Amino acid sequence: MEQNKDINQFEIPLAKRTYLNNPNTIIFKKLLIFSPFLLLFSVASLRFIRNNELGSSFNQNFQAERNQDYRILGHLPYSEIPSEKLVLIEPNIEVHIDMRDSLLKMRKEAKKEGIYLVFLSGYRSINLQNDIFYSLKSIRNQEAAERARVSAPPGYSEHSTGFAIDIGDATQRETDFEIEFENTDAFRWLRNNAAKFHFKLSFNKNNKYIDYEPWHWRYEGSIEALKVFETSNRKL
Ligand SMILES: [Zn+2]
Repeated sequence: MEQNKDINQFEIPLAKRTYLNNPNTIIFKKLLIFSPFLLLFSVASLRFIRNNELGSSFNQNFQAERNQDYRILGHLPYSEIPSEKLVLIEPNIEVHIDMRDSLLKMRKEAKKEGIYLVFLSGYRSINLQNDIFYSLKSIRNQEAAERARVSAPPGYSEHSTGFAIDIGDATQRETDFEIEFENTDAFRWLRNNAAKFHFKLSFNKNNKYIDYEPWHWRYEGSIEALKVFETSNRKL
């Protein structure tokens, strides 16, 4: 029958088969197989590069922010306390009125335990700080960064806020303003008790720019004091 004829009788040209077995086509096949992975890899690489760029710009911004805390040679700026907030607690020692009671109470409590604290320096005006910084810098032939390790530039001292106090041991006055103060009973007592009276050591051994000052304590027992030292505490 006409309909049952073998289809080949019409001599339809069969599609020419090409076997993909030469070296070029093998590579092409492999590429086809691996293309999804290559695509994934490319996307991941792009993301990595982008994140890295974002990361470095974030770091740059962070660095800029860090540099915008207005430090000079490691010291933060502090404004001078208004004179109406200053009180004299003994000859030559003036402090912020907020910290007077706590400071006197701390000395009294220490005395009860046989520890004799002596106040060496409280409020210092920016003018006085100017003399301390530049006159001594000149006398000692020091460069600014060298001087700043042991003394704040004017306008950058915690002492101008009235919230800082330098303390010595009344029984070992030779250790006044010396690192050796840390070996006195007064220092040991302060280390164990000062926080009860809201005092804190300002310059510990970890400070990169400023030398360790075991005698220098600051008051953080009022909102005003906390505001004054907010930047310093935030950067710890
Ligand atoms: Zn001091």
